[in-house]
Amino acid sequence: MSIKIIQGDITTAAVDAIVNAANPTMLGGGGVDGAIHRAAGPELLAACREVPVINGARCPFGEARITTAGKLPAKFVIHTAGPIYSQSDEPDKVLASSYRYSMRLALENGCRSIAFPAISCGVYGYPLQEAAKIAVSVCLEDEFKHLDKTFYLFSEEVANVWLRELKRSI
Ligand code: ADP
Repeated sequence: MSIKIIQGDITTAAVDAIVNAANPTMLGGGGVDGAIHRAAGPELLAACREVPVINGARCPFGEARITTAGKLPAKFVIHTAGPIYSQSDEPDKVLASSYRYSMRLALENGCRSIAFPAISCGVYGYPLQEAAKIAVSVCLEDEFKHLDKTFYLFSEEVANVWLRELKRSI
C-alpha cells in the first residue's frame, strides 16, 4: 500500500481515477470541480448529466459517483460531495464516508491507483488539521491496501498539514 503527497494540480494526475470534490448536483462548480471540468472538456459534464437524480441530488453528501474522464489522463472521475462543515451535524463521519465511498467505487471498477484533493477544505470550510487526520486514517484502512493513493494538494500550506499527519500516522 502506498500513500503519496504531491503539491500540485490534480487534473494532471496520471492515475486510474481522480476524485472530484463536487457538490450534490454534480453539475460543476468552482475550485477543484471547476478545474477538473475545464481540463476534461464538455464530455465530463455530459457524463455527469447521465447520473440519475434521486431526491434532488445526483450525489448525496458522503457518497460518490463514477464517470468517464473526458480529456483527462485519468480513466475515471469519482465525484464525491464532502460535508459543508458548518451545516453538517456529523462532518467527521460524512468526510470519512466520502473517502471510503470513493475508494470502494475505485476498487469495484478495477482501479489500482487513485488521486484525491483535500475534500471539503475549500469553500466547504473543513478545518485542515481535522480533515487531514480523517483523510489519512481512512486511506490506511486495510480494505484499501491494494490501492495506490496520492493526495494532490494545491497549496504549500495544505500539503504541509497532510505531510505532518502522514508522518504521525505511519
Ligand atoms: P470543497 O467545496 O469540497 O471545499 P474546493 O474545490 O473549494 O472543494 O476545495 C477543495 C481543495 O481543493 C482546496 O484545498 C483547494 O485549494 C483545492 N484545489 C483547487 N483547485 C485544485 C486543483 N486543480 N488540484 C488540486 N486541488 C485543488
